[in-house]
Amino acid sequence: MYIYLKGINVSKKNLKFDSRIVHVGNKIDETSSTVTPLHLTSTFKQKRFESTEQFVYARTGNPTLAALEESLANLEGADHAYGFSSGMAAMTAIFLMYKPTDHILISRNVYGGVFRLVTRVLNDTGVEYDFIDTSDLNCVKKSIKKNTKHIHLESPSNPLLELADIEAISRIAKENNCVLSVDNTFMSPYGQQPLKLGADIVMHSTTKFLGGHSDLIGGALMLNGDQINSKIQLIQNTAGSLQSSFDAWLLLRSIKTLTVRVERQFRNSLIIAEWLEKQKNITKVIYPGLSSHPQHSLACKQQLDPNNKPVFGSMISFELTQKKDINKFAKNLNLLTLAESLGGIKSLISCPYSMTHASVPVKEKQRLGISKNLLRLSIGIEDPDDIISEIDFAINHC
Ligand code: PLP
Repeated sequence: MYIYLKGINVSKKNLKFDSRIVHVGNKIDETSSTVTPLHLTSTFKQKRFESTEQFVYARTGNPTLAALEESLANLEGADHAYGFSSGMAAMTAIFLMYKPTDHILISRNVYGGVFRLVTRVLNDTGVEYDFIDTSDLNCVKKSIKKNTKHIHLESPSNPLLELADIEAISRIAKENNCVLSVDNTFMSPYGQQPLKLGADIVMHSTTKFLGGHSDLIGGALMLNGDQINSKIQLIQNTAGSLQSSFDAWLLLRSIKTLTVRVERQFRNSLIIAEWLEKQKNITKVIYPGLSSHPQHSLACKQQLDPNNKPVFGSMISFELTQKKDINKFAKNLNLLTLAESLGGIKSLISCPYSMTHASVPVKEKQRLGISKNLLRLSIGIEDPDDIISEIDFAINHC
């Protein structure tokens, strides 16, 4: 993995983040294409019956996916990376590492799909689990049982943007021989590097910031450690849940512009969150970049860009007063599209209560603070003044 730069051979690993995202996983092959080609084939010609070739059958691996996985490993500074057909397929691969009576701890306000996977699928396999408040280190310590094998964090969490202290929890995990995984979807590798903070596995819904254009579905696991690696490699291949070549190729293209996209998205979000906080008909604004966020100082410590500057993401949750009608509010929006998902260049708005977290029981939503009037913004790269004018108009006409 070497690149010829200004006449010297430099290991790509020594380049800075913004150079690596463009060049790693983008080898110029024998056809001299400057972009990794899209390999659409299900099988590969072998030279002999006892095959030793790298690529045999496309469910086991293909050159476009291999290039993507090199790029994914680079993004999080991982030894190994695996591309999956979705974020949920990547999550499933993590849980498939465990057997009945093993116990897993999970952040209490994870993405609704992960909640459903745990309570309706994992539940029937005999793997034990507890959803806990991972923003409280004592709660994490107290929840560990003799059979606890794994801790899974989502930080910031969806949609309440609750943070977990990854470095402190990685110490607790190591002391108790537990594997630590972190869903880093909300920050992207540009804004948070969980492996550097001691995690063993980083998970992404690449559908979001890494894809960045709301045009693909994908998932990724980036990890260190030979034992975990051989398990995940076996699961990805055997369960047949790997990323398709076409989506791998789209994702490779998107990763090259990660910095330029998210820098703008993060900057816009701070401007919009600060404005929202001053509005009369809004009862709360949740954004880790605001000093009013209860874990703002933890965000400044662990959410760092490649130059070690604190960054806060582009997800904002806010609650309209009960007297406002959220459907009327949404009718007056044009730039903000009412849609599930997040992380793309186009701004989106959703209502977690009835959309992403529809599968979470009402009582649980009430306990967590996911009310009917809580709205979640995913800020894109549009001019923030236009988004602000639109929200201002919508608040005054609902
Ligand atoms: N993790 C988080 C934080 C998410 O927001 C999502 C989807 O919204 C997922 C995981 C699941 O990813 P996918 O939709 O790519 O399966």
